[in-house]
Amino acid sequence: MRKLCVIGDPIGHSLSPVIQNAMIQAAGLDYVYDARRVTGEDTACWLKQAVAEGYVGFNATMPHKENLVALADELSEDAALFRSVNTVRLKDGRVYGHNTDGAGFIRALREADMDPAGKTVLVLGAGGAAKAVVYKLVEAGAAHVTVANRTVKRAGGLCSQIGAKGLTACGFSRETLCRHASTSQLVVNCTSLGMTGARGQFEDLSFLEELNPGAGVFDLIYNPAQTPLLAKAQGLGHKVANGLGMLIWQALFALEIFTETKLDGAVMAAAARQALEAVV
Ligand code: NAP
Repeated sequence: MRKLCVIGDPIGHSLSPVIQNAMIQAAGLDYVYDARRVTGEDTACWLKQAVAEGYVGFNATMPHKENLVALADELSEDAALFRSVNTVRLKDGRVYGHNTDGAGFIRALREADMDPAGKTVLVLGAGGAAKAVVYKLVEAGAAHVTVANRTVKRAGGLCSQIGAKGLTACGFSRETLCRHASTSQLVVNCTSLGMTGARGQFEDLSFLEELNPGAGVFDLIYNPAQTPLLAKAQGLGHKVANGLGMLIWQALFALEIFTETKLDGAVMAAAARQALEAVV
């Protein structure tokens, strides 16, 4: 059996082994996927160990995504753009760094019937996940994207780095969020607010009341399945989706990279969802 894993610190909470092993089984592949705790100082050591132990590849979560950018021999276009690697393929002594978060996000967004083409989008947050999200929204033809972040400088930096037309950075006050919500057709939460185990919560969700009736709300968080943001948006009659679809699709695209096989997305996603139901 060929070996795959996810590395991170902490790693005990990771759902990747459940998702990946369910998809591996559904596809009849001869692989096994486990989780390894690797600290942030040990990314380079781990790479040598992974080669020595015969790993075909691995996924990476906090705190390795940025470290792996400099350690890869080659980067995919998305990994180079996001300056972040979540999928590593080890082949013929070389390290190939990929990032499937952005592709997973856009696939899940479309699956939730929230295609961003031509839309005005309000993105909340400007961290690592937001970078992948904003790049993909621009690539998918969003007409305008406003990045609202507690640290405005970080939102400005993200917009300058992407350097596309129709990007605006702003702060996170109630007034600012209300103003931008009133002109947005889609809101994407890329902050950790509302996540189980995270410190903060949205202090005020009244900005959602400014949204137009047809607007959608997508939250990258999947634990809990319904964040207070999604509960409020749904209560106001908006289409909503959590981050589970993104998690599953980024995993599927990673598995395709590891195995160099095109997989049946619908079958894989169904297998992953069924396996997750048993554990979450
Ligand atoms: P990150 O780089 O640490 O960014 C966190 C973001 O949250 C920053 O914009 C930060 O603002 C903001 N934030 C944190 N506490 C806040 C508070 N009290 N008030 C206002 N803003 C606050 O994290 P990340 O990697 O981008 O992840 C963000 C979220 O996306 C997490 O919940 C993660 O689980 C989720 N995610 C989901 C998937 C998926 O597959 N579904 C994939 C990736 C990430 P500042 O810049 O001001 O600190």
